[in-house]
Amino acid sequence: MSNENRTKFIFITGGVVSALGKGIAAASIGSLLQARGLRVTMLKFDPYINVDPGTMSPYQHGEVYVTDDGAETDLDLGHYERFLDVSMTRSNNATTGQVYNEVIARERRGDYLGKTVQVIPHITNEIKSRIYAAAKSLPRCQVLIVEVGGTVGDIESLPFIEAIRQFCLEEGQENTFNIHLTLVPYIKAAGEFKTKPTQHSVMRLREIGVQPNALLCRCEEPVNKELRDKIGLFCSVQSSHVISAPDLDSIYKIPQRFEENGLGEIITEHLKLNSKKPDLKSWKNLAEKIENLPHEIDIAICGKYVGLKDSYKSIIEAFVHAGVENDAKVNLKWIDMEEVEKKGLTNQFDAVDGMLICPGFGSRGTEGKILSAEYARVNNLPFLGICLGLQCATIEFARNVCNLTDANSVEFDESSPHPVIDLMETQIDISQMGGTMRLGAYNCKLEKGTKAYKAYGKSQIRERHRHRYEVNNNYLERLKKQGLTIAGLNPETGLVEVIEIKDHPWFVGVQFHPELKSRALRAHPLFREFVAAALRNKLKR
Ligand code: GLN
Repeated sequence: MSNENRTKFIFITGGVVSALGKGIAAASIGSLLQARGLRVTMLKFDPYINVDPGTMSPYQHGEVYVTDDGAETDLDLGHYERFLDVSMTRSNNATTGQVYNEVIARERRGDYLGKTVQVIPHITNEIKSRIYAAAKSLPRCQVLIVEVGGTVGDIESLPFIEAIRQFCLEEGQENTFNIHLTLVPYIKAAGEFKTKPTQHSVMRLREIGVQPNALLCRCEEPVNKELRDKIGLFCSVQSSHVISAPDLDSIYKIPQRFEENGLGEIITEHLKLNSKKPDLKSWKNLAEKIENLPHEIDIAICGKYVGLKDSYKSIIEAFVHAGVENDAKVNLKWIDMEEVEKKGLTNQFDAVDGMLICPGFGSRGTEGKILSAEYARVNNLPFLGICLGLQCATIEFARNVCNLTDANSVEFDESSPHPVIDLMETQIDISQMGGTMRLGAYNCKLEKGTKAYKAYGKSQIRERHRHRYEVNNNYLERLKKQGLTIAGLNPETGLVEVIEIKDHPWFVGVQFHPELKSRALRAHPLFREFVAAALRNKLKR
């Protein structure tokens, strides 16, 4: 294959500790290459044995990110989509569970013709084939960035690193580039940065046969030249390829910072990528705007996992994007719905400019969400309800406006006399938990004249779902008669996708997850209009 048309591969591993922002670093590198006119996509390897994160507790895993094609994936895919504005697919995330599942299924079919099935070569071959499959997910892909979850030295990640070693050997040096992201801690008592953890982490990597081409040193403050030289010497990495990656106050400043440190050039030169002069104007504008937002609003975030912000990653980011487009800094005030459920409403919402009710599963905290939705409806507080948020708003409306006493979702009360949220027939016989919800992108047709239609500026939309329960269409007429607007329906199934309240400044509930399609450089229309309504509400007060 000519050099022009082939895909080049970048691998990103992590060292020392987790939670250094490897996913964001990987995505930022992707945007540096995109800024050079290159076609880039991403792959995340997750070394856990779960087939996907869909069945994991939010406390364990954080948000489950859903792709258009209905895969339940790691939240790093959210960073990839937000930074690159490329739609991920089920090929862009692979777990140990999936890899073993595939190899074991093949063994059972007899495909290995009596051979002993082993980690090398069978598991590593399957990992390598997933790398090629991810590159194929984007037509004419020029660069695939592969991020390996966890840290080097973990038992679980060994087969992935071994597969990378083989892959780099087979594809050749000028077609592969290894980046190791590590921590350079600052020890206060000694008043110095320490490079030893980085040395040890790179040692572990080299033991397995992978020599990094560049190091990204995460640190509180920039690491100076002398230290970078030292790290380079000990780790056998060219000192100009040792990049200081200090904490920044916004993740959206990272692409520009990496560019200033020369990372884009280092990669394109090594990989001999034919690229144009980088154009990072939009990232620069975004960073500047984030710095100087003239307005400020407070939004109440009504959720269950308020101690664990990773569960609401995409929602948090969607507010940053929507804030920028409204010239407003959006402060999120986390309100624990279990508390509200137990103790009732006091003054939680008195000073906020808008309310969002989060998605969720299980009954804990739902009565708190129902009370909160009532507050927003009665007090004309701009409101956005997502998935369970729409369901709670519907229950509230049924109980308090339509006088359907004890209306509920069958998820919380199987014998409710008014199951306004019900299980669809397609879900009734399902006993297996993993991957069986309504997942992925579905069509929705918006009613002209509604707030949602105004936000999108069109009637045909497609949004992503992850839920089992739906609005019960047997109650639609009663709900509508009392002033609930059915603003969006699935044209194929007739299922309710969007509700609104007629006599309210801005009250929108959606059965889908708009937060999954908000992008750094392109806010989601519903979040944008919700923030605009909250800002109007504030300026009016
Ligand atoms: N628990 C609800 C359902 O399954 C809502 C899910 C969600 O908010 N994502 O339908």
